[in-house]
Amino acid sequence: MSRFWSPVVQTLTPYVPGEQPQVERLVKLNTNESPYGPSPKALAAIAAENTSDLRLYPDPEGARLKQAIATLHGLDPKQVFLGNGSDEVLAHVFQGLLKQKSPILFPDITYSFYPVYCKLFGIEYETVPLSADFAINLDDYAKLNGGIIFPNPNAPTGRSIPRSEIERLLKKNSGSVIVVDEAYVDYGTESCIPLLRGPNCPENLLVSHTLSKSRALAGLRVGFAVGHPALIEGLERVKNSFNSYPLGRLAQVGAIAAIEDQAHLEAMSAKVVKTREALVNALDRLGFETLPSTANFVFTRHSKHAGATLYQQLRERGIIVRHFKSPRIDAFLRITIGTDEQNQELIGALEELVK
Ligand SMILES: *Cc1c(COP(=O)(O)O)cnc(C)c1O
Repeated sequence: MSRFWSPVVQTLTPYVPGEQPQVERLVKLNTNESPYGPSPKALAAIAAENTSDLRLYPDPEGARLKQAIATLHGLDPKQVFLGNGSDEVLAHVFQGLLKQKSPILFPDITYSFYPVYCKLFGIEYETVPLSADFAINLDDYAKLNGGIIFPNPNAPTGRSIPRSEIERLLKKNSGSVIVVDEAYVDYGTESCIPLLRGPNCPENLLVSHTLSKSRALAGLRVGFAVGHPALIEGLERVKNSFNSYPLGRLAQVGAIAAIEDQAHLEAMSAKVVKTREALVNALDRLGFETLPSTANFVFTRHSKHAGATLYQQLRERGIIVRHFKSPRIDAFLRITIGTDEQNQELIGALEELVK
């Protein structure tokens, strides 16, 4: 604490990311990174970049990357917004689109960065409780609001909702923006991006994506949002009032090659889904209750073993998962899907712990 902190800084409770231990040989299943490498084409593109050009600023608009994303998703480049990770994209979304007269809505159990942004930007919010089985019920969002945001699939539960339900809410909720955070969409969730194609693009739907999870580039820091060109124009105004060059040259060339390698994404996501199914079956056998997941993680609890205890015991065995000390989800562990070998180590450890 310093008396020189501004009043708002004195009130902040910053987001706490999952730890990144600087120790080798840990089974790291705590921050939903990909256990597999990114597209080799992305790594080659970064290596081939002329480093003598690093003295020059990058393209502030990221025009080639926007075009690559637009081509992949059947959109116009004017519908694409880029940021230094989707966390930065979301920060601009909160300030640029979700700071309105009425409170915004998001689930009571969700990505814990959302309330942090609200505090930072002075945004009123109301949380909408998940149902007893930890699902988002969009009917509960049909009320006056300044905007709605939720991840699909939700984090940390892994549960998803079909696109048709989101479409239904869009029609009822024409007075504010709906933001769908699709950070984990590539593991079996219906994306809302198809709704944005062509002349019937809704004015009030924004979808955010990241290259950190399924494209295995968390260290490169690239995220994007897609939506109606007028929404994107608003986000560009915020970005150009904050940092004109959020993506460096290496990030831009790497991201273009990664976006263009859809085959790699699909092959790696399929492997993760297969390992997830094996993990869910093993957890069933061990007496865990696991929420249905379409993400690269599962959310699971055991009726006889506390989440905090299991977390600690796994840690002592060199396996790091995530545990949240929040009231409704205190019993759960959030476990990232690793390689099959990591999965076996995890299952072996849990067998010992719960037998
Ligand atoms: C990981 C994650 C993000 C942000 O990822 P970046 O690395 O900042 O692109 C956004 N939303 C959710 C729900 C996430 O889990």
